[in-house]
Amino acid sequence: MQKTLPFDESFVRKLAEEYPTPFYLYDEAGIRSSCRQLNAAFEWSPGFREYFAVKALPNPWILQITKEEGLGADCSSMPELMLSEAAGMTGEHLMFTSNNTQGHEYQRARDLGAIINLDDLTHIDYLASTAGLPELLCFRYNPGAAREGNVIIGRPEEAKYGLMEEQLFDGFRRLKQAGVSRFGLHTMVASNELNGDFFIETARMLFDLALRLHSETGVRLEFVNLGGGIGIPYRPEDSPVDLAAVGAGIQQLYNQLISGSELDPLRILMENGRMITGPHGYLITTAIHHKHIYREYVGVDACMSNLMRPGMYGAYHHISVLGRENDPQDQVVDVVGSLCENNDKFAIQRPLPRVEVGDLLAIHDAGAHGHAMGFQYNGKLRCAELLLREDRSVQQIRRAETVDDYFSTLDLNAFRAQV
Ligand SMILES: *Cc1c(COP(=O)(O)O)cnc(C)c1O
Repeated sequence: MQKTLPFDESFVRKLAEEYPTPFYLYDEAGIRSSCRQLNAAFEWSPGFREYFAVKALPNPWILQITKEEGLGADCSSMPELMLSEAAGMTGEHLMFTSNNTQGHEYQRARDLGAIINLDDLTHIDYLASTAGLPELLCFRYNPGAAREGNVIIGRPEEAKYGLMEEQLFDGFRRLKQAGVSRFGLHTMVASNELNGDFFIETARMLFDLALRLHSETGVRLEFVNLGGGIGIPYRPEDSPVDLAAVGAGIQQLYNQLISGSELDPLRILMENGRMITGPHGYLITTAIHHKHIYREYVGVDACMSNLMRPGMYGAYHHISVLGRENDPQDQVVDVVGSLCENNDKFAIQRPLPRVEVGDLLAIHDAGAHGHAMGFQYNGKLRCAELLLREDRSVQQIRRAETVDDYFSTLDLNAFRAQV
């Protein structure tokens, strides 16, 4: 798929006069369009709801947009719950899919009326003793060797998440005995999965399990949550997931397995992050150095503290050199940041047009798990986030960090005063 940009060089250059690079630029129109495509794929399923995985882009201005498109919020920590509440989401518009959870976080989820997704059998008693049991509870299922996983999420049988199948039967019985009256089942076995059939298989697995749980325990699930993980075409040669085909495939299974059974109507939920905002965020950075040693390096003013996916997963992020889109890509370079770690590279041995110092680079598909994974190691500061509105205006939705922010938890003056 041809990689395109919703802006050109002169637009970004003007923006960079007001907001120094590096910064993130998010495209509101694109985010809305992703939400609509996913909702359209499940239009046949009246109870369908996508809960946007807040960890992908935890900013209330973004959550306001996804909320307006009918999405809920999937949270796994107290601050994520607070962000979602600020954006107007409470009650069953919140999914709390956490693991190794602390009591005060369960308490906040309970206070907000979020759907709580339990990660272990022992969490039943833990929740009961810390926050009390709500009327609705969900379990996270780990299918183990039955499913494959991938490099980002790992193999299910090695993953710390969820309950094994046999534990679920026991778990739902115990919930029922404890007075819980409404039930859901969740799984999350893929991340950045581009094969749409994978999600149809996940639906089949959960439909089948829901039916067996019903016949063996009498528990009637009201929803299955297929998790997130729909992939995006990071590489030009990748194809996006055909959402309509995924929706239609799951509809066919629903008609076969669930329609007319005692589980009908069974709501279908998802909690994608990446596919909603990923393709619609760009890390904008300026080329500041050229270096020629054993390899050719282009040094930019962003580093892996702004976007660590390449360093963490070896992930590919497409790079456009703004204004040079039609130049021949005849230079093979590593595009690097300034962190003292050799995996601080946005691209390795990548053919690019000739990059001059001062050129602006757009790093594509950085709208999910991008800024959010930022850190301050090596004294690096997190950059600003800007939102390109549908009317082409630009709003700063998070300012860049300053040195004062860096020292805000460490009182340098008090230290100086005592020496
Ligand atoms: C990270 C995560 C998601 C979102 O994953 P994407 O790959 O961004 O779609 C959803 N649910 C849970 C529990 C997660 O940990």
